[in-house]
Amino acid sequence: MTVLTTPAPTASAAVAQARSAAIEAEIARDPGRFRVLTGDRPTGALHLGHLLATLDNRVRLQDAGVDVVLVVADYQVITDRDDTGDLPAVVREVVLDYLAAGIDPARTTVFTHSAVPALNQLLLPFLSLVSVAELERNPTVKAEAVDAERRQGRGMSGLLFTYPVHQAADILFCHGNLVPVGLDQLPHLETTRTVARRFNQRYAAARPYFPEPEALLTPSLTVLGDDGAKMSKSRGNALELRASEDETVAFFRRARTDSERHIAFDPEGRPEVANLLRIGAHFAGTTPEDLAASVADAGAGRLKAVVTEAVVEGLRPLRERRRALAADAPAVVRDVLARGNARANAVADRTLADVRDLMGTVYS
Ligand code: ATP
Ligand code: MG
Repeated sequence: MTVLTTPAPTASAAVAQARSAAIEAEIARDPGRFRVLTGDRPTGALHLGHLLATLDNRVRLQDAGVDVVLVVADYQVITDRDDTGDLPAVVREVVLDYLAAGIDPARTTVFTHSAVPALNQLLLPFLSLVSVAELERNPTVKAEAVDAERRQGRGMSGLLFTYPVHQAADILFCHGNLVPVGLDQLPHLETTRTVARRFNQRYAAARPYFPEPEALLTPSLTVLGDDGAKMSKSRGNALELRASEDETVAFFRRARTDSERHIAFDPEGRPEVANLLRIGAHFAGTTPEDLAASVADAGAGRLKAVVTEAVVEGLRPLRERRRALAADAPAVVRDVLARGNARANAVADRTLADVRDLMGTVYS
């Protein structure tokens, strides 16, 4: 008798990790083979969580010679809210954060979703390639729907439901073949891979047109806000990259710890202290364990002082660059987006022309 078993999640995680390590080795050998697509929803200025989890990594890939494309996903802001806030102001802050962190607009393409019509048109044929049941199974869509309900008491919008397909258009319009994701975001990428595969099967069987993009795993790292929950733009618990030195000091003064005096790195048992240790270690160029050992019985007050100083010093160059750029903000940001949007439009127009050709919808 055959016993059917589903592979343990750790098995697929191990496979993804091994593949990611192999890709990193290929990046070191031949970075020009890779185009990375990633980005942010412009729902607020970027914070420490973004820097540690995504921004630093994008700059690293850019500097390694990978072609990085960053989407400022303004259409995704309206997936779960009616009030978009002051989008031009938020987009400006996000672009300033990118530049201050080391994104170079001469090498990296920074564009806004809504300014690239051909990309958005790809959504139509792509939507025909997935079923409602498949979208319903997407864990990220499920989680976001619960979140939208909890926060605003509203049902899921059609745009939120089809978010993974929009993401497929973001990635495939520029033939992105690599997407930095956390382990928990792997299912999202599956939709893009499915769309690419089915498009190829249906319209380009002889010569596959779209690549099936691969995941480049980013370390699973959740930076906590001053309330002990995941740091998030919309929770009001974040240390923004643009914050002043005084605001940084105040943020860490407010940050939660626990009642145990001895400082040790115990992510499971003492998440707030572990969070401070991770942040401090990142900027001090050490490990959380070593930082914990150096504070030891001096307690949470000492830990906060050490972490605050490491962050203030560590962010000083970024903040100085940001201040200088912000002085010229409207012009600087306009130039970056004009350049990025022009580049993205040229690429998207070409892709849409190819897609129409392959689908047989060119009539003259
Ligand atoms: P919002 O409140 O609008 O959801 P956010 O602050 O949660 O904003 P997102 O735009 O949802 O930020 O996050 C984009 C990506 O940034 C995430 O996929 C994740 O990889 C990373 N990220 C965001 N916040 C954190 C955090 N606190 N710790 C680690 N990574 C984070
Ligand atoms: Mg979020």
